[in-house]
Parts: sequence; structure tokens; C-alpha cells
Amino acid sequence: MKKKVILSVAAHGDDAEFLAGGTLAKLAGEGHDLYMAIATDNDRGSHRLSGAELRAIAKPEAEAAAAALGAKGVFMLGYTDGDLCDVSAITLRGQVMRLIRQLKADVIFSWDPFAPFEDHPDHRTSAWAASDAAAFSQLPLYHPEHLKEGLEPHRVTEWYWYSKARWQTNKLVDISDTMDKKLNALFGYQCQMVLTVDEFIGEAAAAGVDPSQLEQIDPEQYHQWIDMGMRAVNGKLGQEIGVAFAEAFRYGCVEPPAVFSQ
Ligand SMILES: [Zn+2]
Repeated sequence: MKKKVILSVAAHGDDAEFLAGGTLAKLAGEGHDLYMAIATDNDRGSHRLSGAELRAIAKPEAEAAAAALGAKGVFMLGYTDGDLCDVSAITLRGQVMRLIRQLKADVIFSWDPFAPFEDHPDHRTSAWAASDAAAFSQLPLYHPEHLKEGLEPHRVTEWYWYSKARWQTNKLVDISDTMDKKLNALFGYQCQMVLTVDEFIGEAAAAGVDPSQLEQIDPEQYHQWIDMGMRAVNGKLGQEIGVAFAEAFRYGCVEPPAVFSQ
């Protein structure tokens, strides 16, 4: 088996873990080298903590999650949560391309640049940066400053874009053996898990769920809710391919040109 280098490019800590944590842990467990890049510091992701408090815990939480997945390193780009769209597309593409060339990444994971109805601007922005960087990192005239730094052009050969809708999905990955690692990685993001349950309660209340049902939920005790929620989501995907748990992607890879496959 050829050992591959995998680069995950997320807008926020917890994006990769929610959408692809089981697959990333599976690939790391098979001996591939996994690296995590996170564009923002999650510093608007709380009803309880200040931006400064969130920024202070962004890296430790990302490192805890990366360790649970078996990743070899974490790269924090340090942008403000929610404002990623204000970063120049070329700047962000260049930062991702530099990581691709530095790590010699074969495989990239991110949000799907062509997914419709994605309402988070950071997700849309990180998707385009990852997709554009992966499409052109083999061309030396793109970001020639990297070559002056001693890096070389490098071609990405596989891409996994998170798939949130079944009709966008062309690959389901069996994560039954790494579901626990996925959950442990998510639990590394303590403040984001509290936020997830806070938002769950807020949405349920706004949708008219009886408040007495919601009073019983303590967001600080998020483990059971995240566990239950992810087992339901990944279990439903797993049913489609006859396994306990799965994750969904719009996947692509380099293909032999048609002239060689006739
Ligand atoms: Zn996100």
C-alpha cells in the first residue's frame, strides 16, 4: 500500500470531525499521514464564552481532537470566525497551497465548493480555497513565492468534499470501526459541543417544542447528545451500504486520460 499524505482543510475546529472524523481516523489507522488545517479560531462559537476565551482554547482543543483521530500535526490559520470571506481568495488559496506543497499532500478533505444551500460563509470560503489550491498546486507559476522558499509544485490526486445531501454523495465510507474515535475527537472540542447542544435547544424552542422537555437538557453534559446525534446520522448513512456507521462524500480522483483507457 502506498502511504499517502492527507490534508484536512476546515473552516472551524469540529467541521472535519463532524463530517469526516471517522474516515480521517480510518485512513490514519491504515498508516497514512494525516494533517489538520483549521482556518478560524471558532471565536464566535459560543453563547457563554468571550472571543478571547475561545481563541485561547482553540489550539489546545484542536490538538486534542487531532490526537484522537491519529493526526500528525495541526495548522491553525488564526482567522476570525465568521469573517473568513473577508480574507483575499488568493491569500487563502496560497496558504492552503503552501501546506499542500510543504506536506506533499496526496489527498484533500474539505467542504464541497459546489454544494448548494450552504449557509455558513466560512464553509463556502474554505471550500473554494481548498478546491482551488488542490486544482493548481502542481503548476509552478501559481504562487511562485513558494518555490523561492524551496518548496516544489505538487499534484493532489484525491479529493473528498463533505456531502450533506444524499444526492450530492458518490462515496459512502464504512466508519464502523472508527466511530468511537470520531466521537472522542468531537469531545476534544468541549466548547463547540456545548454550543452544539445550546443551538439544538434554541432551535427546538424556536420551533415550538414544549419548554419542559428542553429544561431537562444540560448542555454541559453534551456527551450523550452528541453520541446519540452522530450515531443517528452516521447510522442512517451506514444502512445504505449495510454497515453500522458511514460518512458521505462527493469524491474525486485523478483518472487516466481517455486515450489510455480504450
Ligand atoms: Zn463550521
